Amino acid sequence: MNYTILDCYTDEPAGLGVPPYLGTYPRYLFGALDNPYYLTIDDLRLHKFGEPKKQPKTNIRIYNLTKNAVDVAKILAKTDILVVIAGIQTPGKYLSAVPGTLYEITQLIQDLKCRKILTGPAVSGSRLEGGKHAEKLNLNVFDEVDENFSGIDDYGGINPVKGAGVVKQIPYPIIVEIETGRGCSRKKHCSFCTEFRHDVEFREQKDILAEVKALKAAGVKYFRLGKQSCFYSYKGGKAEEIEKLLKPIAALKPDVLHIDNANPTMVDEEKTKLIVKYCTPGNVAAFGVESFDQEVIKKNNLNCEPEQVFNAVKIINKISGKRSENGMPVFLPGINILFGLIGESKATFEANYETLKKILDAGLLLRRINIRQVAVFEGTQLQKQAGVKFIKKNKKYYWKWRNQIRQDIDLPMLKRLVPEGTILRNVRTEIHDGNTTFARQFGTYPLIVGIKKKLELNKFYDVKIIGYMLRSVTGEVV
Ligand code: SF4
Repeated sequence: MNYTILDCYTDEPAGLGVPPYLGTYPRYLFGALDNPYYLTIDDLRLHKFGEPKKQPKTNIRIYNLTKNAVDVAKILAKTDILVVIAGIQTPGKYLSAVPGTLYEITQLIQDLKCRKILTGPAVSGSRLEGGKHAEKLNLNVFDEVDENFSGIDDYGGINPVKGAGVVKQIPYPIIVEIETGRGCSRKKHCSFCTEFRHDVEFREQKDILAEVKALKAAGVKYFRLGKQSCFYSYKGGKAEEIEKLLKPIAALKPDVLHIDNANPTMVDEEKTKLIVKYCTPGNVAAFGVESFDQEVIKKNNLNCEPEQVFNAVKIINKISGKRSENGMPVFLPGINILFGLIGESKATFEANYETLKKILDAGLLLRRINIRQVAVFEGTQLQKQAGVKFIKKNKKYYWKWRNQIRQDIDLPMLKRLVPEGTILRNVRTEIHDGNTTFARQFGTYPLIVGIKKKLELNKFYDVKIIGYMLRSVTGEVV
């Protein structure tokens, strides 16, 4: 049986698999299947539509091409089973990739003669833009729809060491998303969250280490321990378990070792110090705060109070807010805000603005504030109770609300984060837009730098910061 994996990329509350991030699904599938080919949706787009005319902007729809890109026709002709990975549940802006929507994927694969299986988060819903209901799944195209295809959603079944072999088919540099656990230990979940479909389960340290070793041996340099709902909650949030996890991975000396999600209520000094000790600088803990409005917090069962967030921000800043050798602060918090939750009103914006302003005025640093509109997924409390009701009601304010935070908080924060003249090391050139090159470091939430020069892509430079946009910076090569 000839298998081909088609990666259309994934982004979920607890897991990122949009290039340059390589998610867990393609690796687990590669470990489960017998010597499959790995294709990206970029390969398939290029195969179907050919190389478009040269544009001033890098075409990020066909940017992430595997080694198999030149042989797509041959590979598809001999494929018996095509396993499609897809699912965007926390839609974001991606610098150098465009994930496939279910509509696009259907168009691209419907004529193929092989058996087609859909797996990944799309099985429970997918939506590339926030503020809308999930896309409807066209079941006429897929022969099978299974989130746990070949046991990839089952820790007993996966073989991540063998799965590491998939990176041999990927010629572009990647940062791999490593899973430490799944599910969320909160008894009642946040209204919008899809993580309820997993029971709480943690991977063993030895299994995670074996996977990192195999990936490193296959040439991977950059790692993000990012697939979990809260890094600080690993194995009950015990510091000794976190140290047992981090210490041996750090001993392998990866170029980048970062984390992702954290629940502010779990942040303490002891665990923060461990993260600083064993991870590499430029690290970020993203707090899924979603709202600072008490009414919204209550109605959506959100995980933290404004005071708890403020304290967690203070703890991380105190321990690791100083600048590191790569130009970025050692380890900082980030904050996620969601528009469109149950009970949202003008008072929600005021509460969000005030708390963020309080953080700014206290002289603290946030790596970034992520603001997006919620996407509504089947089975969530949000879908059952309100759907897009609050988005429809408040949409007219969103631009203004967001812009006020961008102007009054993000911009001064950015100037404090990387003052003019700061030198960021090892910044990789990623795309062109006219004569500007956009570049960023490898890491968990790297800052985008615009350089007014057409530089060769996929090269590493040291860049001096010379100016500011609202959420990114401008720089020049030194
Ligand atoms: S804290 Fe809320 S959003 Fe995060 S995983 Fe748990 S239920 Fe989901």
